[in-house]
Amino acid sequence: MPEGDTIHYAADRIRAALEGRVPERILTPHPRHRLDRWPEKLSGRALRSVDAHGKHLFLRFDGALTLHSHLRMTGSWAVQRDGAPWRRSKRRAWLVLAGGGWEAVQFDGPVLELMSDARARADPRLADLGPDVIGEHLDERRVLERLREDDPTRPIGDALLNQRTLAGIGNMWKAECCFAAELDPWRAAADVADEQVLAAVAFARREMTRSAREGKGFQTRPHAVYRQAGRPCPRCGTTIRQRGQWENNRVTFWCPGCQH
Ligand SMILES: [Zn+2]
Repeated sequence: MPEGDTIHYAADRIRAALEGRVPERILTPHPRHRLDRWPEKLSGRALRSVDAHGKHLFLRFDGALTLHSHLRMTGSWAVQRDGAPWRRSKRRAWLVLAGGGWEAVQFDGPVLELMSDARARADPRLADLGPDVIGEHLDERRVLERLREDDPTRPIGDALLNQRTLAGIGNMWKAECCFAAELDPWRAAADVADEQVLAAVAFARREMTRSAREGKGFQTRPHAVYRQAGRPCPRCGTTIRQRGQWENNRVTFWCPGCQH
């Protein structure tokens, strides 16, 4: 699943290719958007800015219109030279923006919506997002406040996935940052000291920032525990385990030997 680093990387690439331009071509090939007439609504408007917050990406156009995208589990962005072959089938394209010899394509994105800037600001799903783990400044105090407002019995591994607490972390970075901080993802959030939470967050922030810059993404990175169940822990040699957590049964990976 694409996490915040992947989305920031995509935002940087789209920005470099298309920001400040009036797209020469806007297409919404997916049948779901056939009647939305976005190409007409956005016609002649410059792409004013491109930004990411957590796993959300915002394409802001002149005329106070914003395209909001969230890739969920399967979506991806491609930014490439206009006319170059696509890595995914044309049927899977949801949005195409082209200009200045470049093309940005969103594939398989189940959340793609055109909204007024006012609605983008007021939408509770967006207004309630926590600080971006790789935002320019990270307000740690606010992260802790939000964490302590969440269910205190929620396992810390799962609590770090709450986008209201901290935006951008997904299943992979959750497992890896708990391992780095020697934090047992099964401990109730209430039993984890602030410093240990912040150590996990600091690891995620540092590594995700690097990943967002390099664009290597979550698939190519070597993992300490994520998807390593059954293998020996790189720190202590204990066998790494996996099990689903909390209400959504999101699988976590951890070393019972050295994560306390
Ligand atoms: Zn270990």
